[in-house]
Amino acid sequence: MRPIRPGDRGPAVTEIRTVLAGLHLLAPTDEGRSDEFDAATERAVRAFQQSRGLSVDGRVGAETWRALEAARWRLGARTLYHAVPEPLTGEDVRTLQERLLEMGYDVGRADAIYGVRTSRAVAQFQREVGLTPDGACGPHTMNALRRLGRKVVGGRPQWLRESDAIRQSGPTLVGRTVVIDPGHGGTDPGVVVPDGPLRWTEADLVHDLASRLEGRLAASGVRVQLTRGPAPGECLPDTDRAQLANALGADVFISLHTDGHQNPAADGVATYHYGTDNGVTSATGERLAGLVQREIVARTGLRDCGTHAKAWDLLRLTRMPAVRVEVGYLTSPTDRGRLVDPRFRDRVVEAIVAAVQRMYFPIERDVPTGSIDVSELRAVVAAGTVVD
Ligand SMILES: [Zn+2]
Repeated sequence: MRPIRPGDRGPAVTEIRTVLAGLHLLAPTDEGRSDEFDAATERAVRAFQQSRGLSVDGRVGAETWRALEAARWRLGARTLYHAVPEPLTGEDVRTLQERLLEMGYDVGRADAIYGVRTSRAVAQFQREVGLTPDGACGPHTMNALRRLGRKVVGGRPQWLRESDAIRQSGPTLVGRTVVIDPGHGGTDPGVVVPDGPLRWTEADLVHDLASRLEGRLAASGVRVQLTRGPAPGECLPDTDRAQLANALGADVFISLHTDGHQNPAADGVATYHYGTDNGVTSATGERLAGLVQREIVARTGLRDCGTHAKAWDLLRLTRMPAVRVEVGYLTSPTDRGRLVDPRFRDRVVEAIVAAVQRMYFPIERDVPTGSIDVSELRAVVAAGTVVD
């Protein structure tokens, strides 16, 4: 859909303004027509996007629209239950999940989707407070949650649970499934830079990176799947890319992009993982993002633009540790000059392989950044022994 933007008028704008007013981001008495996307509306949309970890552009595209739809629901306003096949989603579900997480219940990630795991966690909570464990959150369960207030806090239990699962699975890469997602493609070339007779697009470059990464990981005994080919007919939406990774039961999800900016001086690498402003974060995603970022900076010399938490669909809906790497700015002459060099792209790929490997090392046995020899890993696999 075409984003709804400043200057637009109509019933859709009225709806947007109503939700924003309900979130106290927009005073309902703001002057101007109630169906007009005016400056106050734009400010409110930006504040909303910021609070949800979305890209802040002041327009309402598909992703922001879905977030606004979900934001209508406040916890307690409706009964929540595990609906099949179309699960309930909304801000109330996320609030409930965050409460349960704080109390030490295993809801997985606070993804705002009322799935099997959330339902099971609710049932466990109900059993422990003496309610019928039906896994649905109605008025009685809400009362019990309110009575407990914020007294019961388990100290980031999800953090421990996720890291435990990874530690117990051992340090080997053999047999793991990694989904690599080259961004854009099809009708969407991503960042495009005319450069002499060669016209580089982000879509082409990241596909090349993805194929190289696929080769390296496969040589280490990893099952690899790419979300798209080199020239797909259409551009796959991020929700489909996340679903593909979930359907494959992937252990790790890596999305590859390059950045762009109107200022050619902007350069460097940044890595994103799932997280919101409320301090909710995917601990393993955050750890993987840190490792990818540090390895790339150490091995390539790209400027370190840090790691950041975002609630993008791609990161929110994937059920495994997921990161999105923006490997340099195609609009920066310096970064571009490096990215078009295949040897440089190989260094980027080695850095990502090293980061994935390090994620499976127990933290106390982790190695210094830049120190894993990726070719050695391959030799060990070829010799038929497990890396330990
Ligand atoms: Zn991109």
